[in-house]
This record gives sequence, C-alpha cells and structure tokens, in this order.
Amino acid sequence: MDRSCGGELPRNQRFIQMTDNPIEVLDDILYSLKRQRDEGLTGFDCGDEAAARMTEWGQPLRRNTPSLEGIRTDMGDCRRCPLCQQRSHIVFGVGNPNAQLVFVGEGPGHEEDRQGEPFVGAAGELLTKIIQAIKLTRAQVYIANVVKCRPPNNRNPEPDEIKTCLPYLERQIQAIAPRFIVALGKVAAQTLLGSQVPISKLRGRFHDYGGIRLLPTYHPAYLLRNPSAKRDVWEDMQMLMKVYDYDA
Ligand code: SF4
Repeated sequence: MDRSCGGELPRNQRFIQMTDNPIEVLDDILYSLKRQRDEGLTGFDCGDEAAARMTEWGQPLRRNTPSLEGIRTDMGDCRRCPLCQQRSHIVFGVGNPNAQLVFVGEGPGHEEDRQGEPFVGAAGELLTKIIQAIKLTRAQVYIANVVKCRPPNNRNPEPDEIKTCLPYLERQIQAIAPRFIVALGKVAAQTLLGSQVPISKLRGRFHDYGGIRLLPTYHPAYLLRNPSAKRDVWEDMQMLMKVYDYDA
C-alpha cells in the first residue's frame, strides 16, 4: 500500500524525523509493525502477544499526556477572551477521544452555542453527510473548533481571540493524537498552518501539522452558499479516503 504523501518519505520515517514526542514515535513503530505483519512480512515476532506487549511501551509517559476531560476541567468557565461575554455555552468538542480523524472548524454558530455541541446546525448536517460519504460516522471522528465560544453575529474570530483559545485545541489534538486533521475553512486552515495563503490555494493537498497529515478544505457553511464548491470538497475527501486506514 502506498502510504506516502505527495512524494514525501513514508509516514513512519517522516513522523520519526519530525516529532520529539516519544509516545508518538512508539505508536508509529507499533503501527508500522502491525501493517508489515498484515502485509505478510515474516522473520520477526509481530504476533498478537508481542503486539500486546509493545502496546505497553511508553505507558509511564502516556500517563502524562493530557486527557480531554482534564483539558475541559482546566477550561472551566473560561473568561480568558471577550467571546465569553455573549456565549450561552462553551462548545468544547465531541466524538471519539481516540479518533484517527479530527475535523476542525472555526467557531460555534447560533445553534452550536445554544446546544453546546459543534456542527449541529445546517452546516453541521452537511458535515455529517460528508463524514458519511467517506464511510465513517460522527461517533468515529472528533469534531472541534478553533475558538470554543460563539463570535457575535457569526463574525470571524479576531486574532487575539484565536491566540487565547488555540492552546485548548492544540491540547485536544495532542490528547487524541489523530493521524489526520481536516481543517474546515480559511480560519481553521490558516490558524493551524500559520499561513495567510487563501483556502482555495491550501486545499487539494496534505500539509504537515507536527507529523499529522492536515487536509484543508472548504467549510460546510461555505458549501451551503456555494454548492458548486462541493465537487472540490469531494475531491479532497477522496484523497483522504485513499490513505485513511479503515482497518485500524
Ligand atoms: S473563546 Fe476560548 S479563550 Fe475565549 S472565553 Fe471561550 S473558551 Fe475561553
């Protein structure tokens, strides 16, 4: 199976080069060994018993990795930026805490603020359809936003608000340790990539986010206003499906 990304090194080699997180390195070694076993490689012990033993590697380090519950507890009734003033709920994130794939949007809208859950309005319904189109469910992925409180009148979050809230998202990603991130829209893509390049130029290929493959694409709310862009998003999702590990 071709696990390379745009002509770069295979993921396991690239990952080890780019991360100094020993847990991520151990996880990747284990993943690589299991894949080689599945592909029929013999000559070293990568049976179930050995794999179970290897899973114990790094457990003491793993205990220091933040948990989603711990991050939410740290957040408390956060009032670190002005977006706290008009919110009804902090919209932390939902989904599988061990997800292989994390979707990141920019911030809660009206319905998300009301319910305390990301992507539950009209754009959320479209995101659910996109997730189903790539043969997954919302329960299998994790969904979060760059800022956790609704910007008034659905304006874009200000740079200071993003800067204040971003550490929560970074810690969520660290806790989940996904293999893929889909950045939905300009704010999420530019924030995570530290880029000012337009989303139309960022989308259509994988980028690197600390060893995680990050795929920018259009935000579902944009698709509701510009249905012709759905074709581009579908192309992006097909790219993702080619490298997503449905057996993991
Ligand atoms: S947007 Fe983030 S930093 Fe600002 S108040 Fe809400 S949780 Fe706190």
